[in-house]
Amino acid sequence: MAKLTRDQGLVLRTQDYAETDRIAVLLTPGHGRLDLLAKGARRLERTAGAALDVLNVVDVIFYRRSGLALLREVDLRRTFPRVRSDLACLEAALSGMEWALRLVPRGMEDPEPYKLTLTFLAALEGGLSPGPLRAGYLLRLLSTTGHGPHLAGCVKCGAREGLTWSPERGGFLCRSCGGTGEALSPKLVRTLEALARLPLPALGRLRVDEDLLEQVNAMLASFRGVQLAR
Ligand SMILES: [Zn+2]
Repeated sequence: MAKLTRDQGLVLRTQDYAETDRIAVLLTPGHGRLDLLAKGARRLERTAGAALDVLNVVDVIFYRRSGLALLREVDLRRTFPRVRSDLACLEAALSGMEWALRLVPRGMEDPEPYKLTLTFLAALEGGLSPGPLRAGYLLRLLSTTGHGPHLAGCVKCGAREGLTWSPERGGFLCRSCGGTGEALSPKLVRTLEALARLPLPALGRLRVDEDLLEQVNAMLASFRGVQLAR
């Protein structure tokens, strides 16, 4: 028999389904990524349909069953109006949520990815600078989902000089240990370490040059690509 279950979640994505239904993908503390079928949600636009909007935090009651879980009740719990009204913040939030969608597995019982994502959104809502915040969030999200890069020197020998980026080997790899390509600048290495180490709210106040941040983002994207392909 289908079991009635309660959780809360951040709406990561919604998609129309059949004539009046909607599928909502939530990031939850108790069930990891949770895909819910909301029957008739598009007819109930002002209530259930509206609550199930991307970037809303909702309380849900649903039936667990084989296939898609079936939504029974939804209540709006929290919104992020400031994030929505600022394009740079909104882009950072949406791209962070897209990472969560890919990295957090269905049924994951660890609440950390959920807590981390809400901390990230609350920091954005509080007006902190989105660039470093997003990079710090992605680094932590990789870690809490078991894909974190090794950032304490070369993965093989621990050296801190002549480091290259090796997503295949899981982090920094020095040239003596087979790292190829140009060595990363010490400033870039320090920036990445700081982004991984400092608490998220502190990252919102960290000054990072645009070009450094772009390099960090490219490194994280290549890292995720390799990790997800495994
Ligand atoms: Zn090495």
